[in-house]
Amino acid sequence: MTKFTDLGLAEPIERALAAKGYEQPTPIQLQAIPVLMQRRDLCGIAQTGTGKTAAFALPSLHHLAADLKRPIPASCRMLVLAPTRELASQIAVSFRDYAKFLRLSVDTVFGGVPIGRQIKSLSRGIDILIATPGRLLDLIDQSALNLRNVEIFVLDEADQMLDLGFIHALKRIDKLLPKKRQSLFFSATMPKTIAELGDRFLTDPVRVSVTPPATTAERVDQYVTYVNQTEKQALLTLTLKNENIERALIFTRTKHGADRVVKHLNAAGVGAEAIHGNKSQPQRERALSLFRSGSIKFLVATDIAARGIDVSGVSHVFNFELPNVAEQYVHRIGRTARAGATGIAMSYVAEDERAYLRGIEKLTKVRLTPVPLPADFLDQARSLPKPAQAKPTAQRRHDEARGRPAQGAGAGAADGERPRRPFRPSRKPGSVGSHKGAVRKAGGR
Ligand code: AMP
Repeated sequence: MTKFTDLGLAEPIERALAAKGYEQPTPIQLQAIPVLMQRRDLCGIAQTGTGKTAAFALPSLHHLAADLKRPIPASCRMLVLAPTRELASQIAVSFRDYAKFLRLSVDTVFGGVPIGRQIKSLSRGIDILIATPGRLLDLIDQSALNLRNVEIFVLDEADQMLDLGFIHALKRIDKLLPKKRQSLFFSATMPKTIAELGDRFLTDPVRVSVTPPATTAERVDQYVTYVNQTEKQALLTLTLKNENIERALIFTRTKHGADRVVKHLNAAGVGAEAIHGNKSQPQRERALSLFRSGSIKFLVATDIAARGIDVSGVSHVFNFELPNVAEQYVHRIGRTARAGATGIAMSYVAEDERAYLRGIEKLTKVRLTPVPLPADFLDQARSLPKPAQAKPTAQRRHDEARGRPAQGAGAGAADGERPRRPFRPSRKPGSVGSHKGAVRKAGGR
């Protein structure tokens, strides 16, 4: 069996891996590291949680450390592009861990925080820079950074980059990079548009894939409960209150929806925080660190904020609302079952979300196991406390003035959707597992 020590990585890197307790490379690492050690370009299809960060970080650190250079002001030797701030921070943490016995500098630049400090730290020159595309271009436009000295370029989570509308930024960045460089391209899914984007950045790449495109994370048990939109909040609150759930991420489709879920949970005495694009960077970091440290067990997130969050021990992912893009479901449930653990994904599906569910089942080729509502659900739901009525926020007034209905927990429709008709789930005795049983399966791990 191949060990890290068989891969020819520099000794300080091996030492750092031993300090982290990594013994064996994961499949993506086994495939990618030997290729990258030969300085080939690489196009990798890998789901979240497969260990792809180390797959690109370790051989890159090896090359940079073998050829230590004095930093050139306003430039970097390695550039990693990530779609979100959280992912960029997380990649930086991994790089710092793996490079802790090397003399290489690692820094991040992303939006939402003052640019001044970033300009100052770039002025000295950085070995490894991890950036989101928008802020990177701002810094380039302000002459705080140039990409002329990039030796290794990594584009991580390429599919999400496109979803977030970064295509023009990426094309601009491509033109600013030197032709002679090593390029790495990672995506969880590889539809045609992403492959075309890859062609732009890569030269004769080696292709590696640890799972076929859009295969649902293998170790996740996936369940669905058919429930009225108006009853979802009560179901979630009761489930989180009554079941022994280690740590759960709850996905909503909208930012207001996330806030509303948190308010209801808090009113019922269930500690939770929200993380989404309307939160300031310090708020997002605080929520994430409370979740990471276990001070709160439940984090309610929109897709963008949750991208790439790597928190160990996420036992459950709840889809309070299904994503309308099926690939996003794969990313969401990939938040659990990371690094070899098992996990549970529970989706709450209202009648008008059934088309999304069909799309997800078609893409993943997995049929979600139906779980009925708890037997005395309605009685229990009635006894739940409601949060105090808050004054509408400026954003909410703005949304409502533009004809967008209020949405989220108890209110009904999500942005731009028609109000839902009342809907009763079918409860065929014996045809499905019990609600408690399904939720507990992971809770008792
Ligand atoms: P990633 O897919 O890069 O986000 O990695 C997912 C998780 O796996 C992270 O928590 C890593 O620290 C962990 N990890 C990566 N490689 C290994 C390995 N070879 N052995 C054990 N854990 C690993």
